[in-house]
Amino acid sequence: MKALLLENIHSEATRILTEAGLEVETRPGALGEDELIEALQGVSVLGIRSTTQLTERVIEASPDLLAAGCFCIGTNQVALGAAAAKGIPVFNAPYSNTRSVVELAIGEIIALARRLPEKNQMMHQGVWNKSANGSHEIRGRVLGIIGYGNIGAQLSVLAESLGMSVIFYDIADKLALGNARRCDSLEELLAEADLVTLHVDGRASNENFFGEEQFAMMKDRAMFLNLSRGHVYDVDALVRHLESGHIAGAGLDVFPSEPKKAGMPFESPLQNVPNVILTPHVGGSTKEAQVDIGRFVAGKLLDHVTTGGTQMSVNVPEIVAGAFEGTRVLHMHHNVPGVMARLNQVLAQHDGNITFQTLATRGAIGYAVIDVSGQHPNLQHELAELDETVRVRVI
Ligand code: NAD
Repeated sequence: MKALLLENIHSEATRILTEAGLEVETRPGALGEDELIEALQGVSVLGIRSTTQLTERVIEASPDLLAAGCFCIGTNQVALGAAAAKGIPVFNAPYSNTRSVVELAIGEIIALARRLPEKNQMMHQGVWNKSANGSHEIRGRVLGIIGYGNIGAQLSVLAESLGMSVIFYDIADKLALGNARRCDSLEELLAEADLVTLHVDGRASNENFFGEEQFAMMKDRAMFLNLSRGHVYDVDALVRHLESGHIAGAGLDVFPSEPKKAGMPFESPLQNVPNVILTPHVGGSTKEAQVDIGRFVAGKLLDHVTTGGTQMSVNVPEIVAGAFEGTRVLHMHHNVPGVMARLNQVLAQHDGNITFQTLATRGAIGYAVIDVSGQHPNLQHELAELDETVRVRVI
């Protein structure tokens, strides 16, 4: 089997796929549509990052493609519906940079509590301002985490280990880790937190959910962090509260409008406001996260080609397939009544015992994984003939 990895994907991915016996071709840059179609002939596994566009046209013209991996977080660059309609699972790495974001948040919490942005700037300007004014330890201070998902929960654990007292608010029912305490409302959290940090997801209803009203409810001299999404907070309201001195400092990694490429100019009302740390959406950007993305996505691709597993695919039904003996049938089909009966009729004509059978559906697509004892050379051909079949592989 051949794999094509584009856009300088970390070598960890090449290592994993090569060791499993795949022939791996790597290319440093992205490919345009026509080049990609040409490059994908005979290729079973494609790895891309955010630049290569895996369009419907490319998918239609690449019959050998079995699975695609986005070695990043987002999957907007892939025509996910078109891939699903061809039975091609698409994978990404949504959680490989969780720790990186948490570590940046911890660094910023300490830096803001000690007013390091101002002190650093003054030193560069030749001003020796040795003073304890406005500087605090974080030990014993109350950290209010809004959004207790992967990042929020991991931050909770690390912040407690530094002696912070953690409270959190989440719209979903989340288990409190360690000694963290769940707040019943956002208002309750804002009334108690010395430092408020946003780790919510980007759902549409979160647009500007943290605005003037919420900043006004924060404690006097509290601090604010947002390393989640740029559209969830009102920058102008934050600037007003920083300039009035109500909020003592802020760390921002995400902005309502961000430049598309590195090196492009950036403008924000947050610039040159004292005790504000601005970073260019690098919360998750570390070497370690890149290695983990390489490991994670390559693992998912390999699992799919060797066992048929689709766990954590973003576009097709998810099945944890695991190891098997004998013959395994991987059948992607149109999710219509009677399809399993017709599939089983074909299987019944073969002299084999069904040892495992599982089905999952997602929208218009159904996926069945079936293990049959013995070898059945004609099975793939017979199942491909069924009207409902989208893609079938017998391994
Ligand atoms: P997640 O989906 O695991 O957690 C998000 C949590 O927020 C969920 O528990 C959800 O119920 C909760 N939530 C959603 N809306 C809420 C609201 N209005 N009030 C309270 N809780 C709410 O996501 P994650 O992996 O923890 O990531 C958190 C955020 O960080 C995401 O927006 C993600 O895109 C962003 N992120 C940023 C970087 C970066 O480089 N700065 C890197 C990775 C992730």
